[in-house]
This record gives sequence, C-alpha cells and structure tokens, in this order.
Amino acid sequence: MNSIELQIITAERVVYSDSVEAVVAPGIEGELGILPHHSALMTNLKAGPLMIRKDGEESFFAVTGGFLEVMDNRVTILSDAAEHSQEIDESRAQLAMERASERLENREGNLDLERALAQLKRAQIRVAVSRLRKMRRANRGL
Ligand code: ATP
Repeated sequence: MNSIELQIITAERVVYSDSVEAVVAPGIEGELGILPHHSALMTNLKAGPLMIRKDGEESFFAVTGGFLEVMDNRVTILSDAAEHSQEIDESRAQLAMERASERLENREGNLDLERALAQLKRAQIRVAVSRLRKMRRANRGL
C-alpha cells in the first residue's frame, strides 16, 4: 500500500483526514517531504504552505505553524489554523495583510511587533496559497 494516513487538526475542527501519497510541510528548519513508511518523527512547523499529493493530484493548504508527528504510517498535524486553498477567503486575507502592514508602518508605542509580524505572515501565506490554486487551475485550462 503506497499511501500514508494524514490528519490535519485544529482546536476547532478536523481540516483533513484521508490517505495520501506525499506530504510536503513547512518544518521550522525547512521543507519536510514525507512519503509512505517514513520513519517516526516529531517536529514543529512554521507558518507556510502545505502540499499533499493524492491520486496524482497536488493540493495545497495554508497552515499557521504547529506540530507534526509521523508514526506508524500516519502523519498528524496540529495547527492553530489551517485552510484548504479552496476555503481561503482571499479578500479577507488581503484585508488582514493591509491591516498588519499599516500597524507595522505606524509602529505605535503599544504595538506588539511579534504579533503584527505573525498576522502579516499568516495573511501573506493565505493569499499565496489561494493564488497558487487559481494559477494552477488556469494553467490546466490552457
Ligand atoms: P483575520 O484578521 O482575517 O481574522 P487572522 O490571521 O487573525 O485573520 P486567524 O486567527 O489565523 O485569523 O484565524 C482565525 C480563524 O479564521 C481560523 O479558523 C482560520 O482558519 C480562519 N481564517 C482566517 N483567515 C481566513 C481566510 N482568509 N479565509 C478563510 N478562513 C480564514
């Protein structure tokens, strides 16, 4: 059986649960490629795009960091937030990006810099993942 079970979970919901052929996740030390029967592993994730391949088709998620475990041919991802590219509201992410950029530009005294940077990063990833999907769909239509 050349597949591995993947679960992407947040505090709110099970975002994805199925068998897949490959996972590429944003590990804190770089991209992490996981194929079936990968050895056991535990690592932190940073905010970034996550790719899965199922039935030969690649699809993408935006994840906002968290934790990844591989064990017994099963990948479990616990993330603060995760959305399939299809679920991303690109204009909402665009607005969040503008808000975060403004906060960073104005640099008011009580600005929580780390939080503002993290908001900007989340929004940028959501916009990028949403656009990636649109681009790939457009290319397929050529
Ligand atoms: P916003 O300011 O737009 O709420 P945020 O970065 O503060 O953005 P998060 O705290 O990361 O949002 O996420 C809160 C919830 O909203 C999560 O369930 C997340 O999946 C969802 N979410 C956030 N932004 C989007 C988006 N652009 N499209 C779809 N779901 C989103």
